[in-house]
Amino acid sequence: MLVEQLLQGNEEFRKNVFNKDPERYQGLAQGQSPGILWIGCSDSRADPERITSSSPGEIFVTRNVGNIVSSHDWSLFAVVEYSINYLKVEEIVVVGHSDCGAIKAMDADLQDPYLTPWLNDAREAKTRVDARMLTPETPEEEKERSHQIERENVRLQVEHLMTYPSVRLAIDEGRIGVHGLYYDLETGSLSQVI
Ligand SMILES: [Zn+2]
Repeated sequence: MLVEQLLQGNEEFRKNVFNKDPERYQGLAQGQSPGILWIGCSDSRADPERITSSSPGEIFVTRNVGNIVSSHDWSLFAVVEYSINYLKVEEIVVVGHSDCGAIKAMDADLQDPYLTPWLNDAREAKTRVDARMLTPETPEEEKERSHQIERENVRLQVEHLMTYPSVRLAIDEGRIGVHGLYYDLETGSLSQVI
């Protein structure tokens, strides 16, 4: 059972990490003060802490299918509001990645009761890229188009985030910065899109 792997992995974590630095973990048990809110994709290959060499307590994380900043997502509204008003994060990053299944599903126009409407908030990224690109003819051009849509989706979701009143206010008052990042699974490189 996979759940046993999780419990076994936790035993290893306690032995090799937690118990070797008890003071730090006891400190973390008293509270958190992360500087960054990370809005990323749920993809199992794009773990925020691992790909940025960050430690527990440094990044407040929310992830969904396609790193989408929706105009009707109560969960994200609450995460953003909590991060800005109570955790006092200094920066928010929206993070996309290569080989994104959400972008593939949107591009293939898959029809599912929840996934399809959820992805509506990313469709504009595809429209923008297809308006400026010739139709791909080779596998390399197909890949380039996918990368461009994934990056455009990061820009688009940052635009959506800017419409959140709590974000707008915090930016106007100089309390937070907002950025878009892109993680390339083939190179392991995280780069700034916006
Ligand atoms: Zn993804």
